[in-house]
Amino acid sequence: MSQTPELIVKDLHVAVEGKEILKGLSLEVRKGEIHALMGPNGSGKSTFANTLMGHPKYEVTSGEILFKGESILEMEVDERSRAGLFMAFQYPVAIPGLSMANFLRSALNARLAPVATDGTGKVPTKKGIAPKEFRELLRQKMDEKFASRYLNDGFSGGEKKRAEILQMALLKPEIAIMDETDSGLDIDALRIVSEGVNAIAGPDIGVLVITHYQRILNYIKPDKVHVMMDGRITLSGGPELALELEKKGYNWVGEGKEVAAQ
Ligand code: ADP
Ligand code: MG
Repeated sequence: MSQTPELIVKDLHVAVEGKEILKGLSLEVRKGEIHALMGPNGSGKSTFANTLMGHPKYEVTSGEILFKGESILEMEVDERSRAGLFMAFQYPVAIPGLSMANFLRSALNARLAPVATDGTGKVPTKKGIAPKEFRELLRQKMDEKFASRYLNDGFSGGEKKRAEILQMALLKPEIAIMDETDSGLDIDALRIVSEGVNAIAGPDIGVLVITHYQRILNYIKPDKVHVMMDGRITLSGGPELALELEKKGYNWVGEGKEVAAQ
């Protein structure tokens, strides 16, 4: 396990359209660790994930995000991706006309390209992986029929999530964020997706599994569990915390007012 955490988030405050959503979130993730971030709907989990990836709508008003020791606050989404951050979407977008294979090859080439040093942040147009080599790589990861389909077009919920995991497997990020990858999946799909994540997990990657429900944590074993309430992590613990939440619900964690609201 590495000494300095690859991802360090310090007292992060984030506003969306002028409204403060994250109110002092701190978290550290090292390679080799699986963290689960749990919390009720509206607590700011997706806001946090989007902020990590650099979505322009999410304004960091104070605090810091360090990735491999450097601030990423000024980096664009694609720069963050090339640096080794990855996010699997809660709602993957369909792109009719773009095959999975072409999409994945473009994504991989962009990831392999070094970050431009001329300050433009543009991806250099140098050649990436050779088509033949890529086809071979793809064959190891998925069947050809799946690879030739258009990205997420007509995919079932499970297939969409599988496509996200395949991207993750190809891009080999150092920190992967999975925003409610479990939502809307039946047990079989959940198992397939979890097996994919477990196959990727290991000493070279840190994974942040964001979820509302404890269910996925039956398949993906977290080292640490954090509970998010109203834009902050209010409680952290080991895997047993997820089970406790399953039994007692989130109100048990929250401030008195939330218990009273029930
Ligand atoms: P969670 O993922 O935990 O359910 P979100 O981060 O999606 O929570 O939402 C937290 C709060 O931020 C909600 O009140 C939501 O309405 C608001 N919010 C998040 N993203 C946006 C956005 N793009 N535009 C407007 N409000 C947003
Ligand atoms: Mg969400």
